[in-house]
Amino acid sequence: MRLADRYRAVLLDLDGVMYRGDRAVPGAAEAVAELRRAGTQIVFLTNNSARTPEQVAAGLRGLGVEATSDEVVTSARPAARLVAGDGASTTAYVIGEDGVRTALAEAGVEVVDGAPERVDAVVVGWDGDVGYDELRMASVLVRRGARLVATNDDASYPAPGGELWPGAGAILAAVERAAGVTATVAGKPHRPLFDEALKLAGTREAVMVGDRVETDVVGAARAGIDAVLVLSGASTRADLVGLDRLPVAVGADVGVLLENRAKAVPRPARKDELPAVRHLVEAPPDVPAWGPEGVWVIDRENELLATATAEVRGSEAYLRGVATRPDQRGRELGTLVVAAALGDARRRGARACFLLTETAERFFERLRFSRVDRGEVPAWALERSPECPVSAAAMVRELDQ
Ligand SMILES: [Mg+2]
Repeated sequence: MRLADRYRAVLLDLDGVMYRGDRAVPGAAEAVAELRRAGTQIVFLTNNSARTPEQVAAGLRGLGVEATSDEVVTSARPAARLVAGDGASTTAYVIGEDGVRTALAEAGVEVVDGAPERVDAVVVGWDGDVGYDELRMASVLVRRGARLVATNDDASYPAPGGELWPGAGAILAAVERAAGVTATVAGKPHRPLFDEALKLAGTREAVMVGDRVETDVVGAARAGIDAVLVLSGASTRADLVGLDRLPVAVGADVGVLLENRAKAVPRPARKDELPAVRHLVEAPPDVPAWGPEGVWVIDRENELLATATAEVRGSEAYLRGVATRPDQRGRELGTLVVAAALGDARRRGARACFLLTETAERFFERLRFSRVDRGEVPAWALERSPECPVSAAAMVRELDQ
């Protein structure tokens, strides 16, 4: 069964998932077409409030992705709903472009430009022309009692050349700082944009597909739906470490939805599973027993597919027993189970994690482990791996966030 077939709706982030800059992610158009053929409901959602849904849909079609405006939700509409509230007549001063102004008008909010004495709300979105006068006006109006609402609070966004440029969150920070208040925010990882997208989808049997852990994956967890992380954009595998709720799959790009995959949900091993863990790891007989504390597994119908163990003493952790069943490799199960084990170690007080590896240095480098002198590995940890040859690489990773 394909990953997408486990859901009735797929919520697709745009930048880093469907396109990067002005180029489509290879295979994204075909993936969307295939999802449509399978009858999967599609919602495109983005924190970027600058463009209207019509403009976003036209942009997608320009990249060869079939899309209509009624499948697109930007952070502008939920922001407008927050402002419009229960329908009383409302005025707003806006820092933002077409998308947010149009959404406010559609929600019945009167947008007031210039230098109004008072407004009900100040709305901040990304605006490429914002200047001091607008920041001053927005701050003054908030200090006079206007409610501060933001489309999104992304500090930055990737510019076409790959550098990071100030996002709506950077503009918002200026107003928040000057006015001394904190905004209500509509966009990911906050709930309003997810609620809007799920309402459009008409089902909660939905999965969020995104490239940013701190907005897409964290936001999906808050909204109570599954997430899939794609590595075609901002976040890397290393960003998964420390998350309270992991994505159910990690893939190179949106094509992962069409792969034959089960949800991968790491969980602590049961005591009766430890022999199977040992078998999966192919531990030689002279290796001392371990667990059940710190042993994590991913299973399918009680068959173990991947495992990792993080033992903790004081502020130090030792990662061992990392293995994926050979027929399951290439699906990032090792990444997910290690991220789960390290997150658990951190919750148990570990601040750094050591390991020894003979063959998987590259895998652990991608999780932001780096080489250290073997002498830096705690003695108690070395004693746990008597089978490990002296030629094995010693590595460490900080677990502080
Ligand atoms: Mg993105």
